[in-house]
Amino acid sequence: MSSTKSKVYFGSVQQGKLLPIASFAAKVDKITDILIEQTPIAKKDKVAIKMHLGFNVGYQTVPVFFVRRIVDAIKKTGAYPFITDNPTAVYNAVNRGYTQETCGCPIIPIAGVKDGYTTPVEINFKGFDKLDMGGVLKDADVLIDLTHAKGHGACGYGGAIKNLALGGYSGPSRWMKIHAVAQRDKYWDKEKGSPEHAKKLVEACPYGALRYDETYDNLIRNYHDCHQCLTCLELDLDIGAVKLPRESYSAFQEMMAISTNKVLETFKPEKVFYLNFALQITTFCDCVGVIQPPIINDIGVLGSKDIVAIETATLDLIKKEEIIEKNIPPFLKHVNLDPNEDIHPFTRLHGPYKDPYETVRFLEKMGRGNSDYELIEILSPEETAKMKPSEKVFEGEPSFF
Ligand code: SF4
Repeated sequence: MSSTKSKVYFGSVQQGKLLPIASFAAKVDKITDILIEQTPIAKKDKVAIKMHLGFNVGYQTVPVFFVRRIVDAIKKTGAYPFITDNPTAVYNAVNRGYTQETCGCPIIPIAGVKDGYTTPVEINFKGFDKLDMGGVLKDADVLIDLTHAKGHGACGYGGAIKNLALGGYSGPSRWMKIHAVAQRDKYWDKEKGSPEHAKKLVEACPYGALRYDETYDNLIRNYHDCHQCLTCLELDLDIGAVKLPRESYSAFQEMMAISTNKVLETFKPEKVFYLNFALQITTFCDCVGVIQPPIINDIGVLGSKDIVAIETATLDLIKKEEIIEKNIPPFLKHVNLDPNEDIHPFTRLHGPYKDPYETVRFLEKMGRGNSDYELIEILSPEETAKMKPSEKVFEGEPSFF
């Protein structure tokens, strides 16, 4: 085994025996302990646990059951953990079961109660000079990137990178810069197209991803909703007014790598670790705020000190799974289920320009990690199958009868 490989610890949801010590919870605890041991957390360090706490009726985030265990494990080091996310998610987190009482630590808005407590970071990318990073991250000594792995409409995948890339910034930076970067490359030529032609394209788009702005005579594409079905290009063949630039999709992925890198630059590398929960893997992101049927079966938990390695490993494990076809959203009409094409399930769902590995590759090129990883399974089903059963107590500790 090459010593240059990054270690990724993995705990499967499958267990070899029906015992608490063989359970998924035991695996989460063990992987958390391994990562804490590899992280120099000093007494009284302020430990930011960056999560997405969901929105509205979207409850498929990292279960509070595990959050509490991770918080308790950090507290044992003598440090002070707190959970952080955007102010809206924090404000109504109680609706999805996240409170100081249940999580065991405070839940703090990442950029203050008015989303204005920020610190500027220079990026100079596609005409954007800076982003406003959540000031709370700057204040913290340690970062735990605690993530729910799932699909994403704009880039195919939402994992540890996206949790920092967007979740680490104030609302205006998230929406008017990071997401908006996809709009930088010109794709509508008003000299060639007419308002009538633009309206025809809007009507033809099966995903409602196009709208026409009368005031500016502009056709605007929502890249999150666009499934690259090519209908607009086919209708425009003889006119040549509209484009579907591949680089617009890449720009968003590169921007996410840049913004993540900026968050990580504010921490000493050894003071950061990552946990990805590949459970309730849905087609779209938690930030949509709706309940969705899982599109991939539950896999387990991954933990690493290397963000590139953990994201690559998570995507690789998801790729090994088959899409649960009956759970494909009925409004997705262009899902590619051709078994002869070796593509990731998230690319099958979201279209060929939404490559879930792309932002990971950008981050690796920035020197932020290593996609060559060693997957170390913790308490594997084979190992736990050999465990000696302890005395079964179904209603013990405490017993009330
Ligand atoms: S490629 Fe398809 S989904 Fe995308 S904007 Fe054009 S018509 Fe809409």
